[in-house]
Amino acid sequence: MIFQQTLGNKVTFSGIGLHTGKTITITLRPAEPGTGVVFHRVDLTPAVSIEAHAENVVNTRLSTTIGRGEASVSTIEHLMAALYGCGIDNAHVDINGPEVPIMDGSAAPFVSAIVKAGVKESRKARKYLVIKKPVSVTEGDKKASIIPSRHYKISFDMQFAHPAVKSQVRSLEFSQTSFTDEYAAARTFGFLAEVEMMKSHGLALGGSLENAVVIGDNGVLNPEGLRFQDEFVRHKILDSVGDFSLAGHRLIGHVKATKSGHDLNHKLVMEIQASRLLHPDRVHPAGLQRSLQHRAAGAGLAGGLKRQVKTKIKIKTEVVVKTEVEQKLRAAPFGGLLFSFQRDLELLEFPSPFV
Ligand SMILES: [Zn+2]
Repeated sequence: MIFQQTLGNKVTFSGIGLHTGKTITITLRPAEPGTGVVFHRVDLTPAVSIEAHAENVVNTRLSTTIGRGEASVSTIEHLMAALYGCGIDNAHVDINGPEVPIMDGSAAPFVSAIVKAGVKESRKARKYLVIKKPVSVTEGDKKASIIPSRHYKISFDMQFAHPAVKSQVRSLEFSQTSFTDEYAAARTFGFLAEVEMMKSHGLALGGSLENAVVIGDNGVLNPEGLRFQDEFVRHKILDSVGDFSLAGHRLIGHVKATKSGHDLNHKLVMEIQASRLLHPDRVHPAGLQRSLQHRAAGAGLAGGLKRQVKTKIKIKTEVVVKTEVEQKLRAAPFGGLLFSFQRDLELLEFPSPFV
């Protein structure tokens, strides 16, 4: 899948905000290529638009909140994970309150809404942020890093002293089906003592066993039990997919997180962005086309040009194959692949392998 995608139609749904306890309505609408995901606080006059980018994150306590001026939208991470997981690059999100509804505590209801709206492919290429050098952030015993990898992977190691949770370790090798089938339904969770304390402080007013797994002294309080034996770490990975989607481009790299949460996830994304400033992206295929023109004008299709083209194509081919290029492109002969790159494919390579 290398072309940017949006929703086929608009779709509207409502739910309770976890922290405000109020009913909030969301409409997801199709957006033009290059838009990204943009939230619109349509209850404000005039409406305030906030791009879902790491630079707009204003709070990472309990959930991820983006804001502009006085306006903000919190608990965006499960919806963002669903959009990313369903392959949606561009969407408008109209919301009539300060908080994305918690629904059942997972991303599954958002996935269902997106499936209902349908997915529409554009003719504009996606950009991928390919991690070429490790980037990491630590805070006490918490750590989050991303290292070069052929695929987008998230490995999460969570450790709690609570006997009902203990340690859970899991790795997601990202694909649309792995996310929607194995992670989207994992619910948010909390400890009974913390939930009671939050409510006493006016938080989690909408929280209930309908939208969170609550853990008491002797285990899970929800009568239906867990959806997955390791639902907690699956949910932490779901949160991470949402938080890392704020990098602005799809990542190709392996995230390794130990006891991370929204705060450290955000810091890692900001660290990646800071590294990008030190090593500006090389955007292709413009460079390839310039190189082709330059070499062709100078020496024709001499050995040097062939070698250079071969090298560059090899790198791009790897990237495309590992990011699930569509069957038609897989089946295309080399010439077809080259044509596609020249015409459409833009890749952000970070830092450039050519320096
Ligand atoms: Zn969550």
